[in-house]
Amino acid sequence: MSVVDKEQSQALIEEILQEYPEKALKSRKKHMTVVEPGADEKCGVSSNRKSIPGVMTIRGCAYAGSKGVVWGPVKDMLTISHGPVGCGQYSWATRRNYYTGITGVDSFGAMQITSDFQERDIVFGGDKKLEKLVDELEEMFPLSRGISIQSECPIGLIGDDIEAVSRKKAEEIGKPVVPVRCEGFRGVSQSLGHHIANDALRDWIYEKDVSASVQEAGPYDVALMADYNIGGDAWSSRRILEEMGLNVISQSTGDSTVAELANTAKAKLVLLHCYRSMNYIARYLEEKHSVPWTEFNFFGPTQIFKSMRKIASYFDESIQKRTEELIENKYKPLLQSVVDKYKSRLEGKKVMLYVGGLRPRHTIPCFKDLGVEVMLTGYEFGHGDDYQRTMEYLDDTTIVVDDMSEFEMEKFLSKLKPDLFGSGVKEKYQCQKAGVPFRQMHSWDYSGPYHGIEGFAIFARDMDMAINGQVWKHIKAPWKS
Ligand code: SF4
Repeated sequence: MSVVDKEQSQALIEEILQEYPEKALKSRKKHMTVVEPGADEKCGVSSNRKSIPGVMTIRGCAYAGSKGVVWGPVKDMLTISHGPVGCGQYSWATRRNYYTGITGVDSFGAMQITSDFQERDIVFGGDKKLEKLVDELEEMFPLSRGISIQSECPIGLIGDDIEAVSRKKAEEIGKPVVPVRCEGFRGVSQSLGHHIANDALRDWIYEKDVSASVQEAGPYDVALMADYNIGGDAWSSRRILEEMGLNVISQSTGDSTVAELANTAKAKLVLLHCYRSMNYIARYLEEKHSVPWTEFNFFGPTQIFKSMRKIASYFDESIQKRTEELIENKYKPLLQSVVDKYKSRLEGKKVMLYVGGLRPRHTIPCFKDLGVEVMLTGYEFGHGDDYQRTMEYLDDTTIVVDDMSEFEMEKFLSKLKPDLFGSGVKEKYQCQKAGVPFRQMHSWDYSGPYHGIEGFAIFARDMDMAINGQVWKHIKAPWKS
């Protein structure tokens, strides 16, 4: 039996679209579909296009993609939100990219550093202010290992030359100063911010020969890339790799350092978790430094075991043997005990997912391992290659929606009536008010990690708590029938 009925779902999409004016209807129609895996290799939705004005898109901007996602987590760098005060304030420590360190002394992840543009900076330009800010930062935080300048909207509009400031200041302070042109008006979502941030890594870290901490290369050196360590995710992934016998010389960018970024070029293999946000730099490292890369997925037992075997296949028999033993003797029994505990409580439940650029497909197996099916999934800023990759994760009829609006979300919730919706903080409270259990699939609702072995146990516990929580029995007042 299908998770959703194809005809009924298509009729639902038509019904939702009828609410839009003609032009918007035509555009949104291309971003929704009902897919049947196996019927066609392609997913068939249009993606990575401009959002329609006024429809309450859930998307963010290029600054969020660069500062919030890629550069902000590099813990020993000072991240300047360059422009007026808002962007840095709203993105201040709201993404749970965990790190170890003494904040304000040798690590700076959970700080808001801004040039706080005033009207005179817009009128006369902010380059002089930026130079002064770099001097002040160097004096106040001497243990920092570099600075990144994250451009907010006005910087690109008033013609400031932050590259010239960066070259000058990098020479003076003897540390990388990285200018990033991630003004929020560029592109259509967070996605271009990832690409711009990757290009800045290329131009201002790898092309500048920033020194790495690894001097002698080993045969099992790997780089864990594009894991932002949300709630400790990268740490639990790293534990698996190390138990397999691999030597993780770099994590990027969750809990990473400037030296670790530079180490990546010395790895034997780059392991890419979030394809969307860092495939650009992985491709560059392969081309320029001959480091191969491979994608993997550490969400839930099926994908963890598949990924471990895939990663081990790049190395010799000793690693492969150790991996098989680890799976059979330790991980299988551990993860089976989680399935035994929670599957009976979750089996047959149906979820809707709507996240950013990776999790709309990567978390599907985690649900499936617990007997939960996905009725609808969609990305804020996925591209065609993400939607294509999604097909391998679907084995039933599923609704796929790109760049969903809040209006569409409400309609899908009320008609599909899922047992759980996994999405972001902007969606959480209206969903719960509608009586539908909800888990945040960006911040893990302040829980996690969800990656790896311990991650699966926490994931299963959280989904069970949300779906089977007692509160849902008390939505209706007893005196109302
Ligand atoms: S769109 Fe511009 S002003 Fe808004 S958060 Fe992004 S950079 Fe800041």
